[in-house]
Amino acid sequence: RSLLDLNLCGTKTCPLINVRKGQQELEVELHKDPCGIGRVRNFLLTASPFFGFMGEIIGVVISYKDITKRKEMERELRDANVALERLTTLDGLTNITNRRGLDEYLRREWGRMRRNKTCLSFLMGDIDFFKCYNDTYGHQAGDDCLRALAGALQQQVLRSSDLAARYGGEEFAVVLPDTGCEGALQVAERIRSTVEELRIESKCSPISDQVTLSLGVGCIIPGPDNSPAELIKRADNALYLAKKNGRNQVVIETISMISSPVLECVGIDAASEPATV
Ligand code: GH3
Ligand code: MG
Ligand code: MG
Repeated sequence: RSLLDLNLCGTKTCPLINVRKGQQELEVELHKDPCGIGRVRNFLLTASPFFGFMGEIIGVVISYKDITKRKEMERELRDANVALERLTTLDGLTNITNRRGLDEYLRREWGRMRRNKTCLSFLMGDIDFFKCYNDTYGHQAGDDCLRALAGALQQQVLRSSDLAARYGGEEFAVVLPDTGCEGALQVAERIRSTVEELRIESKCSPISDQVTLSLGVGCIIPGPDNSPAELIKRADNALYLAKKNGRNQVVIETISMISSPVLECVGIDAASEPATV
């Protein structure tokens, strides 16, 4: 049987046209089933034209090699690489994005917000008195608590472009693209209260009967004079203040602490709107 679709002959899409242009190898995927075994098969066609006295092509010798197996292996390898790539950006304990995934995503969104000249917000959260929680209830319970908080975080990032991640240890982060300071504050407060509503008992916390989370908010319009590291620093500074002020609260850098580009973020907002996935 013919492996080439004979209907193509004489049309612009005839693969043999490329032979005229000098191409010697063609890969052909057959959606027909030449061997009658019910599978699409891939063939590598090697075409050697032979010429007449005037240099014109008067015929082509074509040999076929069945490369279906190779193609299948290539597909499996590609799928495995995608799965592996996903695994390398997932946190093994909480199953949310890990630090590596967060860094990559932040870098990408930084570029996008810079091109769009829109505000990018970043939240940094840290569980309050978590060391004493581990000491009181054990590391297993500590791990369960981390998983529960990761779930709460994931549940509260509503837009498809928002990303919740484990920053490391008992610290979490959220990237909020296209979100101004006010919107970011709202998301942070929503996360804080959701953690409270989990009602995970914590006998040793001096400030509450249950596990609580402090959050710092940073917001910025990315530009040539600032960097993702600066945005993280802003959120981290704010988190430090939240801890210092008594924990279980959200803090954003005050107007006096932020430079003028950030002021542009105040008032621009959309994060309070429901997700538009
Ligand atoms: P603060 O309110 O100032 O944040 O106090 P803290 O006790 O939460 O902070 P500290 O940095 O002193 O302790 C963090 C604790 O988080 C110490 C460590 O035992 C715990 N921790 C970090 N990573 C993990 C983890 O993967 N599993 C468990 N169970 N605990 C962890
Ligand atoms: Mg910490
Ligand atoms: Mg802590």
